[in-house]
Amino acid sequence: MQTRLADWIRDTPAGVEADSILRKCVHCGFCLATCPTYNLLGDELDSPRGRIYLMKQMLEGAPVTRRTQLHLDRCLTCRACETTCPSGVEYGKLLDIGRDIIEQKVERKPGDRRRRWFLKTTLPHRGLFAFALALGRLFRPFLPKDLAAHVPKARPAGAIPAAHHPRRMLVLAGCVQPSLAPSINAAAARLLDRVGISLVEASGAGCCGAVTHHLNYQEEALGYMKRNIDAWWPHVEAGAEAIVITASGCGTMVKDYAHLLRHDTGYAAKAARISELARDVSEVVAAEREALAGKFRTDAEPVKVAFQSPCSLQHGLKIVGTVEAILREAGFTLTAVPDSHLCCGSAGTYSILKPELSKRLLHGKLRALKSGRPAEVATANIGCLSHLATECEVPVRHWIEMVEERLA
Ligand code: SF4
Ligand code: SF4
Repeated sequence: MQTRLADWIRDTPAGVEADSILRKCVHCGFCLATCPTYNLLGDELDSPRGRIYLMKQMLEGAPVTRRTQLHLDRCLTCRACETTCPSGVEYGKLLDIGRDIIEQKVERKPGDRRRRWFLKTTLPHRGLFAFALALGRLFRPFLPKDLAAHVPKARPAGAIPAAHHPRRMLVLAGCVQPSLAPSINAAAARLLDRVGISLVEASGAGCCGAVTHHLNYQEEALGYMKRNIDAWWPHVEAGAEAIVITASGCGTMVKDYAHLLRHDTGYAAKAARISELARDVSEVVAAEREALAGKFRTDAEPVKVAFQSPCSLQHGLKIVGTVEAILREAGFTLTAVPDSHLCCGSAGTYSILKPELSKRLLHGKLRALKSGRPAEVATANIGCLSHLATECEVPVRHWIEMVEERLA
């Protein structure tokens, strides 16, 4: 694609990056077929190619309006288009640039602004979120059915092994997951303990920054990233082998620290090292497959499971087939899930900001997951888990919990 970026952006780091991404797009339109919003709305401007055009026009100096902002807001950032694109267009990076600029140029309606501010002020703060969730659980019986579905029951952590192995890995606790499902990191700790790895949480680490970043408070999100790097760094220097992340959405973000902090002289090198050490828990378990062999119960009932591969896992981290293989080795029977590349509609705060589109995607995803009549649904990201569980008739859990329960 030929470009002629406007003077105000052309020679900036964002302009140079956007230009090189735009130039890779050959307008072929292959990405339209796998874009969930295009599939739902049938409007070219709600497709990756259409949004790329909108961003190109904006970067070339054309006036931008709320309409442009709406089409970019409707994007799930699922990155299915990146997986499909034969030219290697890094749509997600272009979208970050486009959203950052449009935020400066187009004022949001007061209600929209307040909602986004509220989300970025509460969700990343573990204590605040825990308090709000505790209140929700207390008043759950009095809430309308629709709202009550968004207040999940407690998922107790169970035993957490003491960190006594010489092999140590850091684990990201995150922001909402410790309140919604402490059972996930606890299961990961117990499973890895069985193969001689201790998981350690660094004090001072918290939200990965994804919520704030995707709500377009990009500068503020960098603060979360730096705080995590500061908290992890002494452990990295002391020999922590990896940074284990059990939510694939957060994993995608931490893998991106290197890119997002590349121009920060104080943090660029450390961020690069942190991203290098970041591992989705499936990568860690897969690497320990030999050590795990023979440790699974052989007397367990065969259970049919549908695996929902989060967009962040398959399109963000490009991890495909790994979790499925682990589930099979642990004795589960996997059912087929049609259109497994499509987003479930959770997408960070999308389910709150774009509830109608999100619901339509959720219903499509549930139909696909239930088509093989599974007894349980497994996933790899707390956002998808919570979203699917609002309407799924069978239990929805993180796959690591299911696999850990199968250990003899
Ligand atoms: S990120 Fe997802 S929703 Fe956005 S354009 Fe790409 S495929 Fe469509
Ligand atoms: S598939 Fe890639 S090259 Fe083709 S239109 Fe979409 S983004 Fe552009």
